[in-house]
Amino acid sequence: MQPMNVPGPNAKDIIECDSAVISSSYPRAYPFVMACGQGSEVWDVDNNRFLDFAAGIAVVATGHSHPKVVRAINDQAEKFIHISCDFYHAPWVELGEKLNEIAPFKEDAVTFMTNSGTESVEAAIKLARHVRGGSQFVGFLGGFHGRTLGSLSFTASKPHYHRGFYPLMNGVVHVPFPDPYRPLLKFDIGKDYGEAVVHYINKEIFGKLLPPDDVSAILVEPILGEGGYIVPTPGFFPALRELCDTYGILLMVDEVQSGMGRTGKWWAIEHFGVEPDIICAGKGIASGVPLGAMVARKSLMTWPTGSHGTTYGGNPIASVASLTTIDLIETDYMENAREVGKYTLEALTEMQSRHPSIGDVRGIGLMIGVEFVKNKETKEPAKDLHNRISYLAFERGLLTLGCGDSVIRIAPPLSISKREIDEGLEIFEEAITIAESEAYLVIST
Ligand code: PLP
Repeated sequence: MQPMNVPGPNAKDIIECDSAVISSSYPRAYPFVMACGQGSEVWDVDNNRFLDFAAGIAVVATGHSHPKVVRAINDQAEKFIHISCDFYHAPWVELGEKLNEIAPFKEDAVTFMTNSGTESVEAAIKLARHVRGGSQFVGFLGGFHGRTLGSLSFTASKPHYHRGFYPLMNGVVHVPFPDPYRPLLKFDIGKDYGEAVVHYINKEIFGKLLPPDDVSAILVEPILGEGGYIVPTPGFFPALRELCDTYGILLMVDEVQSGMGRTGKWWAIEHFGVEPDIICAGKGIASGVPLGAMVARKSLMTWPTGSHGTTYGGNPIASVASLTTIDLIETDYMENAREVGKYTLEALTEMQSRHPSIGDVRGIGLMIGVEFVKNKETKEPAKDLHNRISYLAFERGLLTLGCGDSVIRIAPPLSISKREIDEGLEIFEEAITIAESEAYLVIST
């Protein structure tokens, strides 16, 4: 497969202008400049075609510009675009009803709508303080919850998110996430590592540092996203739920990346057989129109009028895009995510046996991480190699994004076909083979 001439002349022009007027803080992966997209395919401004295994950071659940989503947006735009949270409109209410139907609680659910993942987390933090009165929280090392000051206080996936921004919100104690590939804590072999982590929280954190009655909530991703697409062990969530119940602490799960059918169920937490108290949603919820949601058990949503609000949350364009997205996921794409996800995981696991640099392949549905290591025994992360693989794949027509130290995430639109997966994996494997041979040359000289 011949590499394309990327970035081409048009892309180079735009990138140069971008650097003059757009914030330098954005972490650009490589020089892809989008012109248009359809389903799982995208084109850049020089008319180069790419398969999209990144979906705009797991956002375009129904693929790029799904015709039904586009029609819903157009139809709504012709009626009205905005009215604000001071008034009412039907799509907003309909979306609340739909989220109530799919929320992972037996109890009824009530939603506060936002414009992003981080705002959903901020809303959850405020609601938890309102309900419990306590000022303290527990978060997880490796977790990512956003970049505004409240959510940032929980984010612990990379130090550069915090550098220069202290003081953050007070009162978040971080504990290890139960990463089965790299367990931080000692535990008895044969026992569930996730249970060991919960035991540590109870015995060491609550026993020596943090009075549990001062803790409002525990905030956790069901599967780590930015932190490396890490799936916890099966015992973790049941034990965590029990811990929360023991002390009356709220269990808040951040489903911004893992939710909306990406794992083959509406919410990743459903794979672990426990009910949370609050969920935070975003990304895939409206196929790319900015929308987030903080969905709570009805009995918790007792805050008084005016205690929280937003100008745009529940925006009519976002609401109809979300209703159409949810309908498409429900009728077709959740099943597709399950089936194509299993197919992809098996193909990548096979690929692992052919490549010394693939240390681990893991995931559920279409939320799959491929971890690159320098050595399968030591598991030392191969950061440069994984960057190189991403770039080589880009040059050959495949968009991927990294996460963790050296993980490439496979998070395509939920509508992707097996044929497109095969095409993308062929490019991916070629990129791995080239990067491995280059690394070997470097090592041997
Ligand atoms: N929570 C999780 C799990 C995320 O993955 C992200 C974004 O990557 C966020 C929160 C923040 O979402 P946003 O970037 O929309 O604010």
